[in-house]
Amino acid sequence: MLFNIMLVIILLIFYTIMINIYMFDKYFYRMSEYDLKAYGVDSTFDFMYKYYMNVSNFTNSEIYQIKENDKKAIELIKQYTKTCDKEEFDFLNYDIDIKFKKQTWIKDPHTLQNYIFADEVIDVETIIHERIHILQRYNKKYNNLIKHYGFKKTNKKYPLQRNNPDNFTENYSYGNVDFYFKYDENLIDYNSGNTVGSNDGKIKLIDSVNESIAYYLTDKILNNLN
Ligand SMILES: [Zn+2]
Repeated sequence: MLFNIMLVIILLIFYTIMINIYMFDKYFYRMSEYDLKAYGVDSTFDFMYKYYMNVSNFTNSEIYQIKENDKKAIELIKQYTKTCDKEEFDFLNYDIDIKFKKQTWIKDPHTLQNYIFADEVIDVETIIHERIHILQRYNKKYNNLIKHYGFKKTNKKYPLQRNNPDNFTENYSYGNVDFYFKYDENLIDYNSGNTVGSNDGKIKLIDSVNESIAYYLTDKILNNLN
């Protein structure tokens, strides 16, 4: 009897892992006490539970619109890689199966593993941005792109830094400027943090190396700028 119950539990865990592999993204294990407070939850487990309970599939018509936008995004990326720098080409020219899921609690579009989460149909620009985050996670050539753009790894840690699912790297500096996205003193809204850094007219320093590059490269792809 006990053996049967154990077997059912093991099968259930296995089943959960098989269909919801994104639930095991390192993002969930990086939550600080400030992150938890900012999201109004008591523990990492509560956070995961709330996150998971608010994931659903897009409707057929929503997924149709998303796929149409995704086709345009892929086409623009392909177009851009015809004339871009080698480091950008090596980074963008990487095949990966990307999935879309609806997340109604954390409404800002973001990624976990090879999943893009959003609370509504996202436009071409957002899809390019989120696709870049997924490539940052999987394409090893990303390190060359980071160097090519002039970012340098630092060993700095910031207690009030927001845990961003799309920032899974160490902190970087750019031209000796450190930058990160932090909570305000009240921890009321995780979006109300400040961006520390400057805009040198080329790469805008936003949140983290991953976000800065995602915004910068999306802009170049959209406008086909080389
Ligand atoms: Zn982003």
